[in-house]
Amino acid sequence: MDYILIKNGLIVNAGDAFRADLLIYRGVIARIGADLEQQDATVIDAKGCYVIPGGVDAHTHLNLTAKGVKVGDGFFLGTVSAAFGGTTCVVEHPGFGPVGCSLLHQLVHYQEEARGQAVVDYGLHAVFQHVDAKVLDEMAHLAEKGVPTGKIYLTYDGRLDDREILEVLDRAHGLGLLTAFHAENDGIIRFLSDKLRAEGKFAPVYHALSRPDCCEAEAIQRILHLAEAAGNVPVYVVHLSTARGLRAIEEARQRGLTVYAEVCPQHLLLDDSCYLEPEYGGLKYIMAPPARKKEDAAALWHGLETGSIDAVATDHCSFNFADKLALGKEDFSKCPGGIPGVETRLPLIFSEGVLKGRLSLSRFVDVVSTAPAKIMGLYPRKGILAPGSDGDVVIFDPVKDKTITPAKLHHNADYSPYEGMSVKGWPVATLVRGHVVVEHDRLLAEKGWGEYVPRHLMSDTASNKETTG
Ligand SMILES: [Zn+2]
Repeated sequence: MDYILIKNGLIVNAGDAFRADLLIYRGVIARIGADLEQQDATVIDAKGCYVIPGGVDAHTHLNLTAKGVKVGDGFFLGTVSAAFGGTTCVVEHPGFGPVGCSLLHQLVHYQEEARGQAVVDYGLHAVFQHVDAKVLDEMAHLAEKGVPTGKIYLTYDGRLDDREILEVLDRAHGLGLLTAFHAENDGIIRFLSDKLRAEGKFAPVYHALSRPDCCEAEAIQRILHLAEAAGNVPVYVVHLSTARGLRAIEEARQRGLTVYAEVCPQHLLLDDSCYLEPEYGGLKYIMAPPARKKEDAAALWHGLETGSIDAVATDHCSFNFADKLALGKEDFSKCPGGIPGVETRLPLIFSEGVLKGRLSLSRFVDVVSTAPAKIMGLYPRKGILAPGSDGDVVIFDPVKDKTITPAKLHHNADYSPYEGMSVKGWPVATLVRGHVVVEHDRLLAEKGWGEYVPRHLMSDTASNKETTG
């Protein structure tokens, strides 16, 4: 079918909401207006529903291996889960490659792994794991491969030191690339983790105590000072989790630095009491950074509402509880870190954000779709319902409710960190480039419908917008 006509819904973009019909022609939005008619169109009735741009999740690990364990998903099941949750484009963070490998190694490897597998569109971030003249020169090839973003870790084996970070930021600035940071102080983590374990403290709750909020605050402060020293280079902080980290970002912005901040549902909705769940249940929530205090979550919600935080991503990582238990039962530090969440992002943020009066409907669309599309160099192809944009559309039923159970989700993990939460507002249909991928709890797309999306430099977003009109 060349034409898809979505009728009777409330169109919601980041800027406004209005009642209209939406026509897609050959995968691209052709018209939005009142009472549209089109011969031979497949008609979808969106009465009583919101019609929103497909979700963009800028932080997934659908294909990660860590501590010798591979996540359950892979690109097929991971993107199926995304589609059921109303996300039509993910930007995957590859894990570290072989020691000393080229900056392009993981991009090539993940392209191969993803080919023919995905049901929603996907992009890739570069990952820095060491810095030398070759890596710095390879940065010049990222943009032409559609990769305008690279990630630096301040902890784990692939972490960079301050001098290396400055070299990358300096080069990124000249090339217009955006650098994302995992912000945790490695020395604090290793010191506290060793100390706690030497004292015989191996239970899941000590995971959080080995990574206190000062650990994130110090790392964020350092990143922001390095960005300033490199000449006010724009930076992006992934999975911001603390009130102190947020304050540091707000202060840096007041000094004139360009900083983007991402938050994940787990840091808005969980708190560190989760680590006390009986029967080693606390292992389910082992992730970095850990769940924080309720006051941190309140500060993060406030930041999301006011715009101090730009976007909501998931850091989705579908390890099984069984694996976490097998490896982490005797020692929290051996537990693979990461939790699933790509499918529950839109429903949770709508239910806990919009329905609880923390976010307006338009702000909800902004933080789950438009802002990440802009920052990640996908806009206006993704992130907005407008003529010329991809027909990535979610029909979202604001009164559909569901209690979250692992059996109702489509990720390949044996648990959900949000199990038992009752959530109102779920997608009833997800379209990717005009193709109905999910409708009424059924997967309709074939494996491989999802395409690699080359992303552009963020600085090109403004000029792209003009050509779209
Ligand atoms: Zn991550």
